Amino acid sequence: MRISIKIKFSVFLAILLLLTVYILSLLVLEGIQKNQREQVEQFFEQQAATANQYLLQSLLAEQSKVPQTYLASRGAEFAKQLELISGQAVVLYDQEGQSLNRSISAPVSDSIRETLAYALRNQTTYLTENDSLYYMTPLRIGGEQVGVVQFYYSLTDNLAFYNRIKQLFVYIGAGVFLLSFMLAYVYFNRFAGAIIRLNETVDQIREGQFAAPGLKRRDEIGVLSDGIREMSEQIRDTIREKDAEREKLALAVHKLSLLDKEQKEFIGNVTHEFKTPLTSIKAYLDLLDMYPDDASLLETALASINSETQRLYEMVDKALQLSAMEKYEFEFNKEQLDTRQIILTVLNSLKGKLDKFGIALETDLSEAVVEADKDSLTLVLMNLLDNAIKYNKAGGRIHVTNKVQNGMVVMELADTGIGIPQEAAHKVFEPFYTVDKNRSREQGGAGLGLALARKYTESQGGTLKLVSTGEEGTRFRLSFPVYAGEETLG
Ligand code: ADP
Repeated sequence: MRISIKIKFSVFLAILLLLTVYILSLLVLEGIQKNQREQVEQFFEQQAATANQYLLQSLLAEQSKVPQTYLASRGAEFAKQLELISGQAVVLYDQEGQSLNRSISAPVSDSIRETLAYALRNQTTYLTENDSLYYMTPLRIGGEQVGVVQFYYSLTDNLAFYNRIKQLFVYIGAGVFLLSFMLAYVYFNRFAGAIIRLNETVDQIREGQFAAPGLKRRDEIGVLSDGIREMSEQIRDTIREKDAEREKLALAVHKLSLLDKEQKEFIGNVTHEFKTPLTSIKAYLDLLDMYPDDASLLETALASINSETQRLYEMVDKALQLSAMEKYEFEFNKEQLDTRQIILTVLNSLKGKLDKFGIALETDLSEAVVEADKDSLTLVLMNLLDNAIKYNKAGGRIHVTNKVQNGMVVMELADTGIGIPQEAAHKVFEPFYTVDKNRSREQGGAGLGLALARKYTESQGGTLKLVSTGEEGTRFRLSFPVYAGEETLG
């Protein structure tokens, strides 16, 4: 069972105060008892002195001055007079311990007898039994003991007073206990409220809500509250960092899986591109093996094997160029080139193809000089324009422009061809990637043209981007640094 801290503290404080009252009451009651005893002793000392005085006076008035004789004969009377003088009940004993006045019976209890025996040895003594006090003192004449006088004193009043005070302390104790418990409860309630609030905050933190207790106190609880707030902030920051790390990790894993997929796709593409011509060559060789005398087969086979071998040769050549450019830094023969001239030369060399496909050419060209390697720029333009023809529609158009912009010569090549599907747009620059394998193959492509074109462009500080593509056609943007002067030529 869980006992609330405020109950514990309140009970503790109440018990502490009760203990204080108890100790105080013990001291006060002890004091009262001592005081009462001293008063009684003082009173009886006087009574004893009076009794002795009175005995001496009585004896002087007698003819026989022998105290024993006097007491034996007139003891009862003497005792009676003494009772009148002192106002106390008196018992008179002779030296043998025999009562001389019969008004009060002889000692009855053992303890009174023992006290009497002590008094008979010339000692003043007293005994308290219940609420009675027996005071015994020697009667002396000229320093010699002649008997014992016993005074009886009722302690009822003293005991009643003592018990009243004791009772009062009991009431005070109960009152102090209750009052201190209530006051402490009210005080600790506020105190416990702060602890409960801290506890609630800790629960919230455990559930992932990083709250602060917000207690403004200038004691240890205030320090604890500040500590919890700081701890909460630290945990929140750490978890945020961890989340960010986890997100980064997830992103990296995602990228890796994409890379893995791309790599598999790449290998599939390479395999396909190399296997297709080899399969064709192998098939013709098998046929020739079976029909060595078939002249028309021989002719077709030779033509096909020739073109497939050429294709393989070109593919290997381009692949080697690409791989070499990945690995080595090439020294390019940079020179001052007018892009208008280069574009027109390339277009001229493609004239036959343009005519063959019935594609119209539109140019908007002006003199714009770059510094680049002539062969590389020609190869890049050749690839782009060749694609613009290959992937065009019958009766389509090609639009070529060049202009100087922000220190670059920007050439745009737009066609009205079949376009590139959106999902394939970011892949066309990857080696061996083709959107439609059959169409590329028919056109003699193997997915290496754009990869090679971009590599050449970037190796000379240029950029090659696919600007837009769709049903209306495709637009590529090729930029090379503008020619800046003789001294910058490489
Ligand atoms: P390929 O030798 O197959 O033409 P490229 O690297 O030059 O290889 O081009 C990659 C792929 O991008 C092509 O297979 C083709 O699907 C697509 N492509 C390139 N240029 C164009 C274009 N102008 N119009 C439509 N598709 C294009």
